[in-house]
Amino acid sequence: MNSEPAYLKSHTTGRLKDITDELRGVIRACALCPHRCGVDRTIGERGKCRSGALPIVSSFHAHFGEERPLVGRGGSGAIFFTNCNLACIFCQNYDISHYGRGDEVSFDELAAMMLALQAKGCHNINFVSPSHMLYSIVEALLIAVPRGLSLPLVYNTGGYDSANIIHLIDGVFDIYMPDFKFMDASVANELSDAPDYPERAMEAVAEMHRQVGDLELDDRGIARRGLLVRHLVLPNNIARTDAVLDFLAGLSRDTYVNIMDQYRPEYRARECFDLRRRVTLQEFDAAVAWARKAGLRRIDGV
Ligand code: SF4
Repeated sequence: MNSEPAYLKSHTTGRLKDITDELRGVIRACALCPHRCGVDRTIGERGKCRSGALPIVSSFHAHFGEERPLVGRGGSGAIFFTNCNLACIFCQNYDISHYGRGDEVSFDELAAMMLALQAKGCHNINFVSPSHMLYSIVEALLIAVPRGLSLPLVYNTGGYDSANIIHLIDGVFDIYMPDFKFMDASVANELSDAPDYPERAMEAVAEMHRQVGDLELDDRGIARRGLLVRHLVLPNNIARTDAVLDFLAGLSRDTYVNIMDQYRPEYRARECFDLRRRVTLQEFDAAVAWARKAGLRRIDGV
């Protein structure tokens, strides 16, 4: 296995600079994500994610609550971006994603955050909610790489990404960690204002898998490269967990999946009747059984 992060080669060949230039063009009539708002973020116009061209960060720190392959002993170097391109009514980080808690920083400051997390001993740089901030991330990488950044990069997304943009950033991220939230368009519309979520997520996750393959661990059990998918089980199977897991097994039976049981009603979740309670143990067990039936062999923590 080549253990050097992909973006180091992309920087050397000039590809990282080319990607940055292309993304700068994309946000001038923003089509960074499937909403395709068409606004010029470089002159202060705002689309659904309410974000301009500069990064907005709510916090950054060594995070020990992520999946084991990301955390190891040193933690995952998480940078939490403010705002989101999804409008989930059950968001558990709504103060950051919906209410905009965070501060605008320069590309130089974002690069310094990456380097500080590396100096702390984190195993990776984990960009949380990166979809609307992609341009900022690559601008900051152009600063951080010559200063010594060498950790794997994690694209920790809600899953509402455009496959063509993921294709464009081939060679930047080593680990893709998308949510796959729902496989039902009407539910995606009601809960996240994104009725095309299932199709867009399937296209994007397939492209992610094409680029980086199944999750690869080093001899310490730390992720170096690959795909890690999260799926939050929702009450009454409104997320269509069975269909999500079938899709993931179709990519590869070795897709690494974290089936999560921690749903709790937050933010505006009580507006949806099904979301007014936590999931039961039986519902979670059924989700794991579906994963096994689909043929998935790498289920986090199970
Ligand atoms: S990244 Fe933001 S402005 Fe751009 S298309 Fe998505 S929601 Fe709209």
